[in-house]
Amino acid sequence: MMLVVITGPMFSGKTTELIRRIERQMIAGRRVVIYKPTIDTRYHPSSVISHNGLKINALVVPPDEEGVKRIASETINYDVIGIDEAQFFPSILAEELNKLAIEKMIVVSALNLDFKGEPFETTMKLLAYADKVVSLTAICKVCGKPATRTQRLINGKPAPRDSPRVLVGGSETYEARCRKHHIVP
Ligand code: ADP
Ligand code: MG
Repeated sequence: MMLVVITGPMFSGKTTELIRRIERQMIAGRRVVIYKPTIDTRYHPSSVISHNGLKINALVVPPDEEGVKRIASETINYDVIGIDEAQFFPSILAEELNKLAIEKMIVVSALNLDFKGEPFETTMKLLAYADKVVSLTAICKVCGKPATRTQRLINGKPAPRDSPRVLVGGSETYEARCRKHHIVP
């Protein structure tokens, strides 16, 4: 079938677009699932509720090789496989999905860049393997122009370069910014 990759900064609507695409498949009677890494605690652990109340089967897996193997081993149960926050998985995920996409419809949402503006390796590979890329932008919180980057803030100030790559947070910690207003001290 095919591999669709949805990418962009935080707040660009990646998860919304993932749900929209999976939901259409579900309505058409396809067997669907969405996997999420355990690291992302912002959502209810075992289901994704879409805007129109449809409940999508969602499974949480650890973002390591074991988790990737689990996803690959369960594909017999599904026609369509969605993965949210794919950048948190090791890049072996991209190789596995590249193979699975021969038979299955795979839809993946992945952050483009980390808070320093550096690419996530897993996302880079997914984009290269993709049959279709959906590139989304948010709105820059400073100037209102299209935002392609994610600004990390600590006590309201740009986070320094040496802070850890993974730091789960929402709008108190992150802002969408354009290239000009993305700052890494
Ligand atoms: P993502 O998965 O890419 O982080 P979501 O699908 O979870 O995005 O949510 C995107 C939502 O974030 C938008 O629908 C909007 O309501 C909200 N939002 C918050 N800040 C911004 C911003 N700066 N630009 C655009 N949308 C924003
Ligand atoms: Mg999201």
